[in-house]
Amino acid sequence: MANVRLEDIKRRFNNVTAIEDISFEIPDGEFWVLVGPSGCGKSTILRTIAGLETATSGKLFIGDRLMNNIPARQRDVAMVFQNYALYPHMTVAENIAFGMQMRKVDRKVIQDRVLNVARSLSLEHLLDRKPKQLSGGQQQRVALGRAIARQPQVFLLDEPLSNLDAQLRDDTRAELKQLHQNVGITTVYVTHDQVEAMTLADQIVVLNRGRIQQIGDPQSIYANPANQMVASFLGNPPMNILPAIAQYEGFNVSGQLLEIPTTLQAKLQLHQGKSVDLGIRPEHITINTDSAAITENSALLSVEVKVVEPLGRETLIRASVPDSSVLLNVQVGGAVRLHPGDRLSLQLDLNHLFVFDST
Ligand code: ADP
Repeated sequence: MANVRLEDIKRRFNNVTAIEDISFEIPDGEFWVLVGPSGCGKSTILRTIAGLETATSGKLFIGDRLMNNIPARQRDVAMVFQNYALYPHMTVAENIAFGMQMRKVDRKVIQDRVLNVARSLSLEHLLDRKPKQLSGGQQQRVALGRAIARQPQVFLLDEPLSNLDAQLRDDTRAELKQLHQNVGITTVYVTHDQVEAMTLADQIVVLNRGRIQQIGDPQSIYANPANQMVASFLGNPPMNILPAIAQYEGFNVSGQLLEIPTTLQAKLQLHQGKSVDLGIRPEHITINTDSAAITENSALLSVEVKVVEPLGRETLIRASVPDSSVLLNVQVGGAVRLHPGDRLSLQLDLNHLFVFDST
């Protein structure tokens, strides 16, 4: 096992800069997730660590050894891709053993390790099967097992769950997390799926257009996003974004004034007179039924219900702000008697209001 350190890595393809200013250090044994929209540079970073891509500039260290000029096969990393190519003519056991056989690992050691890996991935009962006799999820677990069995210093995963259907993806995700808890190999995991990032990561690296937007643990990134891109990317449903103008006494949202109490004036003062984007998560909005009962540090906003989506445990309401194209997501517990066209007064918890520079 080893730590992984990137120092100011840049990769250019002809005139296109795929990634730049990429610096972070993954401590030994941690699970880090690189997340961001398609084309933001996640795979390029992963492939650079693997040695499948060469950095245009910057330094890459694995376990304090400079890796820039070390070929992929000498880096002692294992990579799993989304299309998990198993050898079709080999059994599960043979597939898992293959990498070790190539490295001339002792036969008894191989046997033990295949069994251990199969146990940790619940594959023991499938060891004699061929890949075509397995489900997609089982095949992907074999691919993970094959990579882990080599006991690499670093484990690199590029969207390994994206070919699985929803239920299998959830199950395999949980297994992957457990596996990491058991074996503790330093892991870099690439995904565009914010749920995978939130649930798996010790630390998340959010990327956009080839640059790091924020690094942090899932909870702190969710609670304190560095900018609007991060705010909108993490969270499902995503954070609501309301274009507004900062005025003396509050934010003007399409003609409605969100009054800001003096205790929260700092949110307002920095932006006086400017166009801003207000951010608020669905769970920080409630439906106000009695304007006399408005709580401290909150403000009211009138909206019109557009769509009501009952989800069982809660209901998701999509509502529009009159005279604007802004749609808000509001999550309320249980069932509600609301219909499209109903007028609502929403109460926004201003303690959880973010103010971003207008994009
Ligand atoms: P992601 O994995 O986040 O989808 P990539 O790392 O694959 O993003 O790509 C980042 C950027 O670099 C994209 O604009 C992509 O088109 C470009 N890119 C990646 N690989 C190559 C390549 N081999 N040649 C030219 N451009 C590339």
